[in-house]
Amino acid sequence: MSGPSGRHFLQLPGPTNVPDRVLRAMDRALIDHRGPQFADLTRRILADLSWIFDASEHVFVFPSSASGCWEAALVNTLSPGDSVLAYENGFFAAGWSDVAERLGLRVERIQADWRRPAVASPIRERLASDRGIRAVLIVHNETSTGVTSPIAPVRAALDDLGHEALLMVDAVSSLGTTAYRHDGWGVDVTICGSQKGLMLPPGLGLCATSRRALDANRDAALPRAYWDWAEMRRCNRDGFFPSTPATSLLYGLAESLRMLREEGLESVFGRHARFAAATRAALDGWGLDNHCVDPAGYSNAATTVVGPEGVDVRRFLDEVLRRFDMSLGGGLGRLRGEVFRIGHLGDLNDLTLLGTLAGVEMGMRAVGADLRSGGVEAAMSHLLATTPAGMAPAKERSTT
Ligand code: PLP
Repeated sequence: MSGPSGRHFLQLPGPTNVPDRVLRAMDRALIDHRGPQFADLTRRILADLSWIFDASEHVFVFPSSASGCWEAALVNTLSPGDSVLAYENGFFAAGWSDVAERLGLRVERIQADWRRPAVASPIRERLASDRGIRAVLIVHNETSTGVTSPIAPVRAALDDLGHEALLMVDAVSSLGTTAYRHDGWGVDVTICGSQKGLMLPPGLGLCATSRRALDANRDAALPRAYWDWAEMRRCNRDGFFPSTPATSLLYGLAESLRMLREEGLESVFGRHARFAAATRAALDGWGLDNHCVDPAGYSNAATTVVGPEGVDVRRFLDEVLRRFDMSLGGGLGRLRGEVFRIGHLGDLNDLTLLGTLAGVEMGMRAVGADLRSGGVEAAMSHLLATTPAGMAPAKERSTT
């Protein structure tokens, strides 16, 4: 049994491991958040955020968790009683539509299959029959189900119908793990948080906007104070924030964005896709089922695994933590006790992933699962066969 030695394996689908470079960047004395050095930091971060989101309009950074920005997106663009159409194919999609409802919006839900990526046709149908819908809410990568949905067909549906609704996308676990194009896909508001592909601790919420979203902000009548975009934009213009910003996290964000730029986004996405494929190879080797049943929806960030017959998934997760000092994700909402989630996003390498998969295999054996052998070997073979040409040179690593 592992004791306190070695490093904890944090293989949740977020928060993810924070690279040493980012930890060191944050381990610095604070500076005056109303001074000139701070303004330079803000400007650099905002420019790099435009790059990573592919967003030419303003990107807002709030000291908050990501779901704070669900609220920011809604209160800054909509008015009481407005209708929104929410595509629900997972726990986080359902969470966002609940927030909309609690804010006094009329929420029309499309209850969809949690095991497959979103399809645009029911969205198109609802939009065609209701020109009054003001926003469409959809999650790009559902972290609860390990399913990624295409966004461009939703934009195409809006465009074909000439529908005015704003397109709002939760990219909380896709930014920095999966190709994402805010401008390129005509998204009006994209929401993200710091603790996943951006490899930071939790604590920053991000909202990328479009010209239409910023225009909608002028007439939006939902009450807002802390989340007010107008005030934030005014202050950001000079490199400042309306209230005390999360300075240390911003140091970290500047560094993580620098790391992602150094690696190049294509390599970052390729690295995540390769780890996801190796994880699926392990599942096949073990004879375990992926919760996502459509290969088109396989997630780069996390794989949700169906608990095998006769295995108590919660006991498995407890054993993995107790014996191997590894945290995996549990099932959320209606998937509680049914599935577990392997996070393979952020700062990890081939051996981190193999350690993770070995921990899954040993944990399964520890709880008596009837697993085929060969899962870890299958992942090793995949990794050996696919060493990515564009993989970044080894990064500075822990010296301990
Ligand atoms: N959306 C998605 C897709 C998520 O995965 C999460 C958290 O895991 C959230 C929203 C909520 O983020 P937070 O817990 O930072 O508020």
